[in-house]
Amino acid sequence: MDFALTAEVDALRARVRAFVETHILPLESDPTARDDHENISEAALEAVRARVKEAGLWAPQMPRSRGGLGLGVVGMAALYEEMNRSIFGPVCFNAAAPDDGNMMLLEKVGTPEQKARWLQPIVDGAVRSSFAMTEPRPGSGSDPAGMMLTRAEKKGDTWVITGRKWFITGAAAASHFILVARTSDDPRTGLTCFLHHRDDPGWRIERRIPIMGPEEHGGHCELVYEGLEIPDANRLMNVGDGLKATQIRLGTARLTHCMRWLGMARRALEIGAEYVRDRQAFGHTLSEHESVQTLLGDAALQIEVGRLLTMKAAWKLEAGDFARKEVSMAKIVVADALHQAIDTAIQLNGARGYSKDTPLEWMYRYARQARLVDGASEVHKMVLFRSLQKEGKDFWSWGV
Ligand SMILES: Cc1cc2nc3c(=O)[nH]c(=O)nc-3n(C[C@H](O)[C@H](O)[C@H](O)COP(=O)(O)OP(=O)(O)OC[C@H]3O[C@@H](n4cnc5c(N)ncnc54)[C@H](O)[C@@H]3O)c2cc1C
Repeated sequence: MDFALTAEVDALRARVRAFVETHILPLESDPTARDDHENISEAALEAVRARVKEAGLWAPQMPRSRGGLGLGVVGMAALYEEMNRSIFGPVCFNAAAPDDGNMMLLEKVGTPEQKARWLQPIVDGAVRSSFAMTEPRPGSGSDPAGMMLTRAEKKGDTWVITGRKWFITGAAAASHFILVARTSDDPRTGLTCFLHHRDDPGWRIERRIPIMGPEEHGGHCELVYEGLEIPDANRLMNVGDGLKATQIRLGTARLTHCMRWLGMARRALEIGAEYVRDRQAFGHTLSEHESVQTLLGDAALQIEVGRLLTMKAAWKLEAGDFARKEVSMAKIVVADALHQAIDTAIQLNGARGYSKDTPLEWMYRYARQARLVDGASEVHKMVLFRSLQKEGKDFWSWGV
């Protein structure tokens, strides 16, 4: 068993780290580099993205033939973690959700024509994209196959869409949408994926939903479909493959959340460790107090547990496995490790931790979504239980 990165991936990892240190971290404390939703402003982003391209670090998850770095999932894990040492990092490398998951899905299952029209502009950074699956109640949430209400009805060579979606990340800034809709009532093959453009008539953004944390570009929106017509050529995969497409997308996309969150958790811990190194209390530095050491040691331990689970899932995905239970385990553990690291760092920074002088409060509000987004932790535990029941002793097998 070998836990080492290849020399090529490790060299790229070091270059990403240096880039984040030099060009992105300084923007965090520059108020002119922020937009109204606490994210990096479009102007600052455009400038950094140009530098990322010049540095040859653009879109590591995409093939070289498309302008990316052609890394496998293990290499992505190493680079994504480094990118998210800055709260603004991933989007600068075109490796942020939901674009990265959408790109990976389109690359895997799109036809050559679909890739040219819908994928390449996202890879180039010319447009943004959204993935529209979740609906307000009583529609699809944790149980998309059972609960989806948005319908696609075939009329000749066109699909007519009616329904409502919500919490669609990036929708207010996206041009390309991957939409999941019901095409039959079959529990396994009832859903189908479609592609549509922002400018197509027959749909609208009802509202940008106010949230507790900082926002992705384009926010999280509620969408209404009232007769959007999609040509059959813009159907992704076969009719009835919607759930399959979702699983293909979410496998790697969920894990990329874990990769990024590990970087954020490490950064939070760095800020915590830095403060306790110098700060004096009761005749000692904080770091000399054993209970402080235990807090930091435990948070570091949970991050490393999350890294090992993430890397194991990455390795299995790279070997062609769906890695369902491994991705679920990583998602549950890393979401909690992220919380613990940020909460620990805030606690150890005292009043400073509660201020806006560090990015910790930004991270704290952001991190609450980790246990919900792309499947709540409880649902992932249910998935693990189902695997345990089905696989018995094979649940614990090594290899792929
Ligand atoms: C920041 C953010 C961004 C998002 N971006 C997108 C996006 O871009 N596109 C998109 O389609 N969706 C997006 N979502 C939606 C997200 O995927 C859903 O919120 C998630 O799947 C849960 O669905 P729900 O909110 O309807 O919760 P519900 O299904 O209503 O569940 C509520 C709670 O019930 C519990 N629960 C549910 N099922 C079970 C079970 N089987 N066992 C035990 N407990 C259970 C869990 O605690 C869960 O949190 C986003 C959500 C957030 C918060």
